[in-house]
Amino acid sequence: MLNIVLFGPPGAGKGTQSEKIIDRYTLVHIATGDLFRRHLGEGSELGKLAQGFMDEGKLVPDEVVIGMVEDKIKENLDAKGFIFDGFPRTINQADALDNMLNEHQLIISGMVALVVPHEELRVRIKERAKTSGRVDDQDDKKISKRIEVYEEETSPVAGHYKEQAKYNSINGVGSISDIFNQITSVIDSFKD
Ligand code: AMP
Repeated sequence: MLNIVLFGPPGAGKGTQSEKIIDRYTLVHIATGDLFRRHLGEGSELGKLAQGFMDEGKLVPDEVVIGMVEDKIKENLDAKGFIFDGFPRTINQADALDNMLNEHQLIISGMVALVVPHEELRVRIKERAKTSGRVDDQDDKKISKRIEVYEEETSPVAGHYKEQAKYNSINGVGSISDIFNQITSVIDSFKD
């Protein structure tokens, strides 16, 4: 299996690039933010639980996210591979992901990290706000909170994959197709 962690701050382009990566490599997309928004839309208990955290730009507790991802992995063990998008966001989640995959004799093939300056992230998120309908894209304070949470809680996750020699960074500023080409050359190196 080809199992990829697509990493980067909010607004880095993970969603956009994920769609293209899935098409090219036929992977199952596990995007925890999308899954939470779906639960929210359905009014499920999980959605209600996540809503307060999401509205404030905070992380949903690890055990909730990890349980949701575990269910998705188990449902798709016959897949060609997974792309994890917006997960793991804490070291605890990264450890849990390694353990969950290990139970099925699977591993992460590599991490692709999109690097984008903070000022550019703000511009992109505000642009996305015009069409996304996302509450957390609409206001400056929430955007700042999400970037702050990323720096404090999520950026250390890169170190977890550096220790395993699985970290690959890509400049996330440029045209969508140029960035995608860089991503595919990294992913193709995983398959060796
Ligand atoms: P995203 O669509 O990835 O920007 O995620 C939107 C929101 O969902 C985040 O601001 C968090 O509140 C929540 N969320 C998504 N993924 C995770 C995760 N891996 N851990 C904790 N919270 C998450």
